[in-house]
Amino acid sequence: VLSAGNLAKSFGPTQALLGAEFEIDRGEVVAVMGPSGSGKSTLLHCLAGIINPDAGTVTYAGADLYALPDERRTFLRRTEFGFVFQFGQLVPELTCLENVALPLRLGGMRRKKAEAAAVEAMSRLDVAELGGNRSGEVSGGQGQRVAVARALVTRPKVIFADEPTGALDSLAGERVMKALVSAAKELDTAVVLVTHEPRVAGFADREVVVRDGKTSGSMVSA
Ligand code: ATP
Ligand code: MG
Repeated sequence: VLSAGNLAKSFGPTQALLGAEFEIDRGEVVAVMGPSGSGKSTLLHCLAGIINPDAGTVTYAGADLYALPDERRTFLRRTEFGFVFQFGQLVPELTCLENVALPLRLGGMRRKKAEAAAVEAMSRLDVAELGGNRSGEVSGGQGQRVAVARALVTRPKVIFADEPTGALDSLAGERVMKALVSAAKELDTAVVLVTHEPRVAGFADREVVVRDGKTSGSMVSA
């Protein structure tokens, strides 16, 4: 569903990516591993249409992502991609239900319908009972499962998760990963999972290693 070849990206003198490749299929969970500063997040941002690479191409559903007009790429990102980060992504003043319904509400969906979809997504992540709680008042692990529900509520084709368990203890992290992987498999959603924890990568179908901006093991039939 998504692939990239020969990606390069520099920030001033820093070469964050240097010939990185990537490929992910529908419903596949791919872990992106590698040392700190190796270019994992930059790769994820390039794949997700957030950072325009200096060279190389990203192909999503047959289209060259960065050849598309900006509005079209932004639209694709909003409707077909979902995002989960390490922390700080929920609006603490809103309830968990409102947080999960938010992407649909911003897309213009009526409240009743958006909240029904939000309840369904939260049930998949086993956090439906937290609907009325403010997201600022739930535990880290619960909050991450709410964040995954929010990423899934639009039924995206690809979820980009950058260290989704990075701020959690191993038990809470395992619960987040189990819920994320089972929901992704049920919905046939691809997951690009950046992590430096081997235990977390163990939930993926395969691993890609990034080192000095280069990838290894990145293609399905290398
Ligand atoms: P970590 O595991 O610590 O999150 P990472 O593998 O995700 O690391 P990146 O964030 O992709 O690494 O960064 C790769 C390199 O690019 C690093 O040297 C980093 O300092 C640099 N870099 C990343 N983003 C920027 C930016 N916006 N401006 C300047 N330099 C950046
Ligand atoms: Mg990073």
